[in-house]
Amino acid sequence: MIQKIAKQARQSISSFCYEECKAFCCRKCYLILKESEVDLVTQGRKKELIDKGMIKQMDDGRYSMYMGETGQPCPSLKDNKCKIHKSKNRPKTCSDFPIFIQGNKVMLSPRCLAVRQRKLYPYVAKMKQLGAQIMTAEEFTEYEFYKMDFEKDGRKNNILVPLHKKHDSKTSQR
Ligand code: SF4
Ligand code: SF4
Repeated sequence: MIQKIAKQARQSISSFCYEECKAFCCRKCYLILKESEVDLVTQGRKKELIDKGMIKQMDDGRYSMYMGETGQPCPSLKDNKCKIHKSKNRPKTCSDFPIFIQGNKVMLSPRCLAVRQRKLYPYVAKMKQLGAQIMTAEEFTEYEFYKMDFEKDGRKNNILVPLHKKHDSKTSQR
């Protein structure tokens, strides 16, 4: 039920995302990608982006993709919308953002403008009524938030990490 409400909450901000926020989260962050996700997310430009330094492979084999330079958002972003939105292989982080759930813990990304403007409040209130423990920017610094381990069923989530972190294998794990 909490998952269902989170899905409704994400859907509720879709117009705001592309009309007002203009896909900030697809322009300013690091995204950790599995090998199986790189070609899809980069639109087949993996090699080119590695050469440009926008993508680096980490020690564990996954890739860290940097989005932060002007005019260099995620390669799958077009007209403020995600071109691979409907793909089942889209990174889980992208599908989940800005609401991450583990058990009854619900974490709202403090980087999201909609979260900051409390646009998700009605949904958050419903989740609370269902016993969800809400963790917000007030309770967690970004660093603590993103350091949290979302490991579930042996599968690690790939977390959009804050822009101020260094683009290297030690700091871009999550
Ligand atoms: S930062 Fe939040 S409001 Fe902005 S596009 Fe991303 S999910 Fe939408
Ligand atoms: S894959 Fe889509 S949702 Fe994820 S960062 Fe790129 S454009 Fe945004």
